[in-house]
Amino acid sequence: MRPPRFHRYNRLLFHSLVRVTCGAQKDFTTLKYSEYFIPTLRDVPAEAELVSHQLLLRAGFVRKLSAGVYTLLPLGWRVVQKIESVLRDEMDAIACAEMRMPTLHPREMLEETGRWNVDVVYKLQDRREAEFALGFTHEEVMTDIARRDMRSWRDLPRLLYQNQTKFRDEPRPRGGMIRTREFIMFDAYSFDRDEAGMDVSYQKLKGAYDNFFARIQLPVVTAEADGGAIGDLDNHEFMVLSESGEDTILLCPNCGYAANAERCTVLTPESVLSSAPASNGDKPLEMVSTPGARTIDEVAGLLGTSANNLVKTLIYVADGTPVAVLVRGDHEVNEIKLRRLLKAESLGLADSATVERITGAPVGFAGPVGVIGLRLIADNSLLTMRNFIAGANQADAHYVHVNLGRDFSPTEYADIRVAVAKDLCPSCRTEKLEDARGIEVGHIFKLGSKYSAPMGANYTEESGAAKPIQMGSYGIGITRLLAALIENSHDKDGIIWPVAVAPFSVIIVVTYIKDEALVKAGQELHDALRARGVDVLLDDRDERAGIKFKDADLIGIPVRVVIGKGLANGTVEIKVRKNSNSAREAPVAEAANTVVALLSDLS
Ligand SMILES: [Zn+2]
Repeated sequence: MRPPRFHRYNRLLFHSLVRVTCGAQKDFTTLKYSEYFIPTLRDVPAEAELVSHQLLLRAGFVRKLSAGVYTLLPLGWRVVQKIESVLRDEMDAIACAEMRMPTLHPREMLEETGRWNVDVVYKLQDRREAEFALGFTHEEVMTDIARRDMRSWRDLPRLLYQNQTKFRDEPRPRGGMIRTREFIMFDAYSFDRDEAGMDVSYQKLKGAYDNFFARIQLPVVTAEADGGAIGDLDNHEFMVLSESGEDTILLCPNCGYAANAERCTVLTPESVLSSAPASNGDKPLEMVSTPGARTIDEVAGLLGTSANNLVKTLIYVADGTPVAVLVRGDHEVNEIKLRRLLKAESLGLADSATVERITGAPVGFAGPVGVIGLRLIADNSLLTMRNFIAGANQADAHYVHVNLGRDFSPTEYADIRVAVAKDLCPSCRTEKLEDARGIEVGHIFKLGSKYSAPMGANYTEESGAAKPIQMGSYGIGITRLLAALIENSHDKDGIIWPVAVAPFSVIIVVTYIKDEALVKAGQELHDALRARGVDVLLDDRDERAGIKFKDADLIGIPVRVVIGKGLANGTVEIKVRKNSNSAREAPVAEAANTVVALLSDLS
C-alpha cells in the first residue's frame, strides 16, 4: 500500500487558506435553492419499486425519458461529478491517464473479436450505409490504440481510463438506475508485457478501487465472478450487499472468501469423487404412477418425500447436439459451468418436441434409466444419492429406488450446479458458505491476450520477438452507484449521502426570509464556509420552515444549519443528517468552525 495521501477535503481547506492569506475578498457565487433546480415530489412515484429509484425521483435527482433511459438533473449530475472527482484522484495516484474514446464503433473492428453480434449491441447505419455499434464497452477501441502506439517493450506497462456514456439494449431495464440502457461507466485498461506485469497492474487497479469505495463510504464485497462475454481469466466483482440486489453472493464467515453464486465452485470431497457408490441397502427398482406430476414439488408431494430425494433430468441442446443433465431435485443447473464443460458456443433447454423425441415422454417425465446414445452428465452431488426418484420416460410415471451403476451410468460426473448457502467453502474447506443479495457496482478482469491476439496488438521484446500485449479491463458503473449508495444509506425521510459524494456538504436554511437579520446571518455563514472550501446550498425560499426541513432531509445533505429564532440569542441550530437526534445550538460566531469540524468527522 502507498503512504496515506493528503485527503481531498484537507486539500480544499488548504487551498482556501492559501486564498485567504493571499488577501482574496469575498467573491463567492452563492448557490441559492430558489434559483437552483430541485423538483422534489411529495408522493412516491407509482412506477418505482426500489427505494433508491423512489428517492432519486422524489428528491429531484433524475427523470425518466424512456425505458432504461434517464436524465440526470442538477443534483444527480453533481453527485456523478463528485464520484468522478474521487476516482480521478485515485487514478492520478497510480499514474493511470485519462482519455476519451468515441461512442461510434465501426462494425469491422467488432468483427475482429467476434463481438458485433453480442445481443445487447445497439446498431446503426450512416448515410453511406457504413455500420456502427454504440459503444457498450471499449476493449476493442483500446486494443486498437495499443496496436498502433504500444509497439515496443519500452511503451509498456501503461494504464489508461475514461469516463463515458455506454449503451446496452437490455431486455429488461429495471430498478431505476440499477439496470439501464444508457449509463455512465468509468473504465480503465492496463497493458503489460507478460502475465506477471498484468497481475501487478490488476492489483494496482483493484487497490485504487478499494480506496475509492472506502472514500465514498460504500462497503463492498470483492467477489470472484464469471467473466461472461468479456473473458474467462481471473475477474472480480465489487458488490454492495443489499436485499434489492440482482445477484446472489456466497460468503465464507471463516476465511472471507466471496463469490458470485454463478461462479462459485461446489466442493466435493476427494473421497466421494474417487470411491464407487456403496450398493448395500439398494432397493429394487420400481415404476410408480405419478399422473400429472411434472414438477419436482408435485412429484415429491405425491410420493410423500422431499426434493432432495429426486433427480431432475434436463435435456439441453449444445451447439445443435442434445445432452441430458442430471442434478438433485433441490439444486439448479449452472448453465455457465455447463457451457464451459461442453465448450459450447450456444446452449439452451431443448424444446418440448425434442424432449419427446429423445425420451419418448412429454416434458416433466424425462429420466436417465434406459436412455441410450445420449451424453449423460451428472452433477457430483448424485454420487452420494441412493434409492432416489427419477422420471421413467413415460407419461405419468416415475421410477423409485433408482441407483447409480445398477440402473444407469452417467457418461461423466462434474460440478454443474449452482452453489448455495450451506455448501462447503471452496477456499478454506472448513466452514459452510452463507448467502446474500448484492448489487454489482464494479467488475475487473484479467484479459490476457483475449483482445490483443485477434486484433494483432503485439509489441517487440528486447530480443526482437513479437508478443501479444497482456491486458486488463476495470469498470465501475457510475450511474448505478447512485442507486447503490442510496440503497445502502437512507431512512424514512430520504437519502443520507456520504460527504465525499453529497451534492452539497451543507445546507443553510433561513427559516423566514422576510427577516433581514436572518437573511444576513445566513449569507455571512455561507460566505464563511465557502471561504473554507465547503460546498454550501443556501435555502432562501419563501416557504414554511417545515417544508424546507423536509426537503433538506429528502435530498440528504450531510449537515444542516438552521438560521431561525435562536439568532436573537446569538445561536444557530446544527444537525447531522444521518443522526436524527443530533440537532444542537451553537453560537453563530462559532458556526463555521463547528460545521468544518463536523464535516471532517463525517469524512
Ligand atoms: Zn472459507
